[in-house]
Parts: sequence; C-alpha cells; structure tokens
Amino acid sequence: MHDVVIIGSGPAGLSAARWCDELGLDTLVLEQSEEVGGQLLSVHNPIENYLAVRAANGRELRDRFVEQTTDSDFDLWTNIEIESVDLKAKRVALKSGEDLQSIAIVIATGLRRRRLGVPGETEFRERGLIESGTRDRQLLAGKDVCVIGGGDAAAENALLLAEVCPTVTLVHRRKKLRARREFTEQLHTNHCVTVFPESTVRRIIGNERVEAVEIERAGAIKPFEMAVQGVLIRIGWEPNTNFISGQLELDERGYVIVGSQQETSVANVFAIGDVANPLAPTISGAVGAGATAAKVIASRLRES
Ligand SMILES: Cc1cc2nc3c(=O)[nH]c(=O)nc-3n(C[C@H](O)[C@H](O)[C@H](O)COP(=O)(O)OP(=O)(O)OC[C@H]3O[C@@H](n4cnc5c(N)ncnc54)[C@H](O)[C@@H]3O)c2cc1C
Repeated sequence: MHDVVIIGSGPAGLSAARWCDELGLDTLVLEQSEEVGGQLLSVHNPIENYLAVRAANGRELRDRFVEQTTDSDFDLWTNIEIESVDLKAKRVALKSGEDLQSIAIVIATGLRRRRLGVPGETEFRERGLIESGTRDRQLLAGKDVCVIGGGDAAAENALLLAEVCPTVTLVHRRKKLRARREFTEQLHTNHCVTVFPESTVRRIIGNERVEAVEIERAGAIKPFEMAVQGVLIRIGWEPNTNFISGQLELDERGYVIVGSQQETSVANVFAIGDVANPLAPTISGAVGAGATAAKVIASRLRES
C-alpha cells in the first residue's frame, strides 16, 4: 500500500515524486521505459527556457533532474508494463504480477509521437527512417530524403536536412503548410526542397534500407513511387491515455481534463504535465503541475 502511485517519469512525474517525498508521502513511480526522462530524451537542441538551468540538450537537463532526486526516498520502477488500472479503486496491476494499491494516483504519462500507420514504418526504423534531423542528419548526408508533415517540426527538420541532402521532399496532406511563416518562407526559397501539398505517403519501401516511398497526390490518377534513401515523420503528438480511457473524462483528442488543482473527474486521481495540457506543453508547466498535485494530495491526506 502506497500513499501515491505516479505513472510516468518525465519532468512532471519526477517533480511530483520529489515533492511527494519532501511532503512525507510514501511514493512509487512507474515508468514503462528503461530510462526516466520522457520527452527530454528526444530533445537534441539546447534548452534555454527552463529558468535557472541552461542545458546543452534534454538528456543533460534530465540528468540534473535525476541528480536532484538522489537524496529522495521514493521508489522508482522502470521497464514496467501495466496490465490494468482501476482508477476508482486506486489499483494498478502490472504484467509482472504485482498488484499495487494506493490512496492517490497521478497520471504523468505525457505524449507520444503520432504514427503514420503505414507499411515500412516499423521495419525501417534506424535503417533510413530517422528520429531527429538535429541528431541524425549526418547519417543521411548526400542522400535524397522525404519528410512527412506540415507543421513547425516537419518544416524545421526539412530545412535542417536540406543543409546536407541534395533533395528534400516535404509531403503533407493539407493545401497549406501549418508551419510558421519564418519556416515556410525558407522552404519555398530553398532550391533543395520540394513541397507536395495534399499528398500522403502510403508505404515506405525497401529491402535492407529505405529505397522509396509510395505517394498519393490529390488529383493524380494513381499513387507513384519516389526514390529516397531517408524518411523522417513529424505528424504531431498524441496523449498516452489509451490505458485509462473510459474511466475518466478526456477531451476529444484524448487529453485528460483537469481542474486548477490538477484533479481529474475521478476523486484522488490527478493528471499532470503534457497529458493534461494540450495547449501549452512545456517543461516548466509539467514541473509546476507536479508540485501542485503533490501539495494537494498531501493536504488531503493530512485532513483525512
Ligand atoms: C524535440 C523537443 C523539444 C522540446 N523543447 C522544449 C523546450 O525547449 N522547452 C520546454 O519547456 N519544453 C520543450 N519540449 C517539451 C517538453 O519536453 C515536455 O513538455 C515535457 O517533457 C513534458 O513532460 P511530461 O512529464 O508531462 O511528459 P513526458 O516527458 O512525455 O514523459 C512521460 C513519461 O511517461 C511514460 N509513460 C507513458 N505511458 C506510460 C505507461 N502506460 N506506463 C508507464 N509509463 C508511461 C513515458 O515513457 C515517459 O517517460 C520539447 C519536446 C520535444 C520533443
């Protein structure tokens, strides 16, 4: 029996755990990955906007967060797989067989990159299908690449790849790019970049590595294959709430709906960080929400 079970160990979960521990709550953090840190592990740029700390990348900031929890007493289990959660009963069953019971549950499960859901997306990971333009672009230097998506992240990555690749084709499904003007202007004047609007990639094709993509364009009679040796997908994010859907109020995109104290529609179940913050996901917001939830839980337990 724990006072609090926190699901997720990104900035929100770690902040909540640090605060819960400081407030004397018996706390267990459950993390599905091998490593703690959440999205910070995918940030390859410098982080300049988290007050008091400048970090060369997300991993460095993650290390500082972890360093600040080393003298805390909360338990942290990584590599766990949740079998089922009963939010009302505050029960979490793990695939490994443990049944956990707590007084409060904190959902800090953040976001995951949206998948395209086409053949080749899994098979060619790290075999031409790259994760990040900042980190991986040298792997694709001199190669023709396709970037999929129409927002800031897709546009920024297309521009980064255009610094080292002879051709970059940006494929997006709307008529107009959603990316900010600064990026779209650069895309349209960059002679390496071609933009395919109203188009979708239906397949990533290859043998050992990516060799082509199959593209469907509005108005074209049939899909066609375009030879590329690299692909990068940036089509947005979605909240990690499948495992609790049907048990609490979610918005139409699957984000948890919370009040000002981070409490969900189920008593003593809280949601913090990006999973409950569709409009303004930030490290600062996640860390702040973790502190709020911990303080509210501690004061409730004192009163009860
Ligand atoms: C490339 C990039 C650059 C960014 N740059 C900035 C920046 O400069 N400044 C800024 O403020 N923000 C930035 N962000 C956003 C910032 O990283 C997020 O706002 C922040 O990480 C959110 O923290 P979180 O704890 O809510 O969620 P996450 O970081 O998403 O962590 C969620 C954790 O929950 C775990 N989890 C998910 N489901 C389960 C489950 N079922 N069971 C157990 N564990 C689970 C995940 O594995 C993960 O570890 C950036 C993000 C990216 C991707």
